[in-house]
Amino acid sequence: MTGSSQRPLVLAIEDDLRYVRQLRADLEGCDCRAVFAGTGRRGLELAVSDRPDVVLLDLGLPDMDALTVLGQVQEASEAPVVAMTPAEDDEGIARALEAGADDYLPKPFDLDQLLARLRAVLWRAPAGAWPPFASDGLSVDFAAAEVRVAGRPVGLSASEFRLLRFLARNRDRVYRPAQLVEEVWGPEYAGDQHLARVYVQRVREKIERDPGDPRHLVTRPGVGYVLRKHG
Ligand code: CA
Repeated sequence: MTGSSQRPLVLAIEDDLRYVRQLRADLEGCDCRAVFAGTGRRGLELAVSDRPDVVLLDLGLPDMDALTVLGQVQEASEAPVVAMTPAEDDEGIARALEAGADDYLPKPFDLDQLLARLRAVLWRAPAGAWPPFASDGLSVDFAAAEVRVAGRPVGLSASEFRLLRFLARNRDRVYRPAQLVEEVWGPEYAGDQHLARVYVQRVREKIERDPGDPRHLVTRPGVGYVLRKHG
């Protein structure tokens, strides 16, 4: 969020009027402000002019390729992007995550699922009393939400940070992909193991010297993933 106590502003880029109506009702009921765009072009204008706190992006827009819109939204705005696509469109979801979406919301969704995604990207869990994690050049400052590699700050998306934060708080414990997804994204995502694979790889590319031979975020073959604490 942008640091103000104002209600968060959600930009929904969606051309399907059924979902526009549903989102309008749901977002009003959950203390968010909302603006709507029915085309990618209009969505990009609003992403710049209205400075939303989060963008809900339909992956099937009438005027522009969804991944193009995603890239341009991210250039224009700091807001996390939640991709929306039919639940059966695994490939679309995976492509959107690989292209940098922070999260996704399969359609159809209900109010609880929408709120869970908004909470996940908008409201970070309280920093709590965890001391910073530091191991072999990698440091994670939970309170400041800051990650450094060899002293240099590394920019992680909200979802990447949540994954790394969870593993750092539970250092040296191995998590199965399904467990990891449940812990980081919530129980309704527990079946989506590809989320773990995609995000582990993305985090590795940012924190490992050699992402192909990771030293911190290690795979235990046949079991899962672990963040190792050295020394
Ligand atoms: Ca659509």
